[in-house]
Amino acid sequence: MRNVLITGGSKGIGAAAARLFACQGDRVFINYCHSEQQAFSLCEELQKQGCQAETIRADVSDSAEIHNMFTVIEQTCGGVDVLVNNAGIAQTKLFTDLTDDDWERMIRTNLSSVFYCCRAALPYMIRQKFGRIINVSSMWGQIGGSCEVHYSAAKAGVIGLTKALAMEEGLSGITVNCVAPGVIRTDMTKHLTEDDLLALCDETPTGTLGTPEDVARAIVFLAADRSAFITGQTLGVNGGFVVS
Ligand code: NAP
Repeated sequence: MRNVLITGGSKGIGAAAARLFACQGDRVFINYCHSEQQAFSLCEELQKQGCQAETIRADVSDSAEIHNMFTVIEQTCGGVDVLVNNAGIAQTKLFTDLTDDDWERMIRTNLSSVFYCCRAALPYMIRQKFGRIINVSSMWGQIGGSCEVHYSAAKAGVIGLTKALAMEEGLSGITVNCVAPGVIRTDMTKHLTEDDLLALCDETPTGTLGTPEDVARAIVFLAADRSAFITGQTLGVNGGFVVS
């Protein structure tokens, strides 16, 4: 049984991924920070189905909390075989209005967290000569999003980290890949008006928005044992919004 840690597993894309991994027989660790109730009820739902699931609280923007989270997981089951760096925040603001605090919070939560988690996960993966790391970037990290410069910069950083780490770990049996979702209906996009959503649909070749399950299926695919020859890649899950 593989141990899968999903950061930000309490809702949205992370929760959808937790359900898929658990259903295929993996043991899932559902990390959350603020949404304790949602994490607990997801965990209970999975356990009732006979799946192995546990919740684990940590603020991914805090290096010490990440260290503690991995220590607890190592004591429970040895280590993490599959790491999904999914936790993230969004903020829409004019670049000239961004404060130092906005910038630092975004970079810490969406980029430094990926560094902290990969660094904590790797020693066990290297010892096992097996590991799967899937980082959740965004299409805005590929093409840049207006009024989301700090978000786009952090997500572009995630793609750069993914490529470089994939090269470094190539011989260790560890793959490192990204998914880059387009517009997905979750709490993160709740603030968009129906008009905004319709306009985004119009811009998308498939004429649709994505679901958390669309992204979760791509994550599970990249995490598969048989996906060993795919590394350093960014898989767009965006209905054709970005084609590269
Ligand atoms: P969501 O429903 O708002 O979920 C965000 C998740 O991140 C929550 O589980 C939240 O957990 C967690 N999180 C936020 N800050 C955290 C922290 N400091 N420590 C630990 N967990 C934290 O949004 P989503 O759409 O599923 O987003 C998941 C990922 O997909 C994000 O990285 C996002 O940037 C990316 N993405 C989303 C879209 C989209 O259109 N929705 C598009 C491209 C990329 P708590 O609530 O427990 O704190």
